[in-house]
Amino acid sequence: MKNVAIIGAGISGLALANKIKDFSNVTIFEKSRGLGGRVATRRVNQFNFDHGAQFFKAKEEEFKDYIRPMIEKGIIDTWRARFIEIEDGTIINRRVWGEDPANYIGIPSMSSIGKFMAEGLNVKLSEKIGKAEKNNSWELFSEEDASKGKFDWVISTIPPLQCIELFPSIKSIYRNIESHKMMACYSLMLGFDKDINIDFDAALIKGTDISWISCNSSKQGRGDNYTILAHSTNKWATENIDQERGWVKNYLCEELSKIIERDMSKASYIGLQGWRYANIEKQNGQDFFIDKKQNIAFCGDWFIQGRIESAYISGARLGEELLAELV
Ligand SMILES: Cc1cc2nc3c(=O)[nH]c(=O)nc-3n(C[C@H](O)[C@H](O)[C@H](O)COP(=O)(O)OP(=O)(O)OC[C@H]3O[C@@H](n4cnc5c(N)ncnc54)[C@H](O)[C@@H]3O)c2cc1C
Repeated sequence: MKNVAIIGAGISGLALANKIKDFSNVTIFEKSRGLGGRVATRRVNQFNFDHGAQFFKAKEEEFKDYIRPMIEKGIIDTWRARFIEIEDGTIINRRVWGEDPANYIGIPSMSSIGKFMAEGLNVKLSEKIGKAEKNNSWELFSEEDASKGKFDWVISTIPPLQCIELFPSIKSIYRNIESHKMMACYSLMLGFDKDINIDFDAALIKGTDISWISCNSSKQGRGDNYTILAHSTNKWATENIDQERGWVKNYLCEELSKIIERDMSKASYIGLQGWRYANIEKQNGQDFFIDKKQNIAFCGDWFIQGRIESAYISGARLGEELLAELV
């Protein structure tokens, strides 16, 4: 069987690995300590925060089919959030999310999804790939230049700018790589000793530098400790991604306090995550890129849209295409 290396254990890398695992020797290299990439959960003291993806929809039949077993096993459930939309300080919409279309979450955390998808796969966690070289086969190296093995195929699921750093000759392989632009996002995480009783679970905000607020603890299985999660707009984060983190935290805290009319600096825990490559504008091109002469391919949400479903589709469809090369 052919040896295949996948760089990244996010949803696209795991979807791809699941498609090809019975027909090849797959090794997944993941730089972080956890599975699922941007579908992530941070645990601090008694608090849980889904600080990346908040929830997801399933529109395509192939994705609905894929998640059905996870729904049956209780890994995924519907979030019946009390939802509002705020525009320029006024609530313009208020409803409770239902089943059609359902907004899904991982149970008991968003990171449960990646953990489930990785079952039975050979994933090397805390293994950052720093260099990739092609001679007769592909060889991957750590940042310290230690060889991580030789492979017949290498597939990268990491953001486009990071791909360019990893594969110096990439522009001659995939000329359009620079056309995929990604935007940043900040996640502000607040934990409270007691319930602060805001009257919504999820809010879409327009007209401020904060675009999203959720009461994370309103999701099933998140424990009893009250938590709020807010996202900045992609525009504001992209303009301020290199700012000092203490300043960003204070600014977003003040903005949030104005929107929900409570002093958020009184939270017993305040955390911040900056995502340099969080989201993309909707793309209308291909689902993935594959070069069958060089034995290299790229997939990830950045080919389609910054959504869990898009990451799955990109990885799974590349897997289907790759199968013909592996058997
Ligand atoms: C703040 C935020 C909010 C979001 N909200 C939603 C939402 O509500 N609904 C929704 O559907 N989607 C949402 N998304 C988007 C969704 O999370 C992504 O579309 C999806 O998770 C992307 O999966 P992926 O596999 O393409 O990439 P990633 O999840 O980014 O996976 C790539 C993996 O590669 C690893 N990696 C990177 N470099 C290396 C290296 N050199 N060596 C080894 N490993 C490496 C990374 O650690 C990562 O795990 C959100 C994203 C963010 C950041």
